[in-house]
Amino acid sequence: MQTFRVNVVTPDGKVYDGDVEMVSVRTVEGELGILPKHIPLVAPLTVGAVRLKKGSTVEKVAVSGGFVEVRPDQVTILAEAAELPSDIDVDRAKQAQERAEQRINSAKQDDIDFKRAELALKRATNRLDVAGK
Ligand code: ATP
Repeated sequence: MQTFRVNVVTPDGKVYDGDVEMVSVRTVEGELGILPKHIPLVAPLTVGAVRLKKGSTVEKVAVSGGFVEVRPDQVTILAEAAELPSDIDVDRAKQAQERAEQRINSAKQDDIDFKRAELALKRATNRLDVAGK
């Protein structure tokens, strides 16, 4: 099966660099599956898992927003933050999840803190999901 190069980079450095058969990302408009020779595009990402498929293995990376750039020879995911399952601190994510839930319960819905807590909750839930917890 044909492969193509995928890079996941954050302001802190490279998180993933490898050849895959398919990558799926969560854009603001929905899930996008990318196969070799996909048309070039740039799309904004939401909080979600990037799935990297090669053979019978699927690797996941937790991504907290950013952009995906599809070029003929490679796909680059420029993420605000990104972690492989092995780099996810589960206790930290659980604490972030609890903190966000408490804020959501105490803040008013049109409050800026409510929106920030909602996003923090999404990041924490996504990390726990990618870590398999
Ligand atoms: P927290 O409240 O725990 O800081 P957060 O969602 O606000 O979580 P981010 O602002 O998304 O954190 O990320 C800041 C940095 O910390 C990034 O480099 C990110 O990769 C890292 N990070 C955040 N949470 C975790 C985690 N649970 N495990 C490993 N790295 C994490």
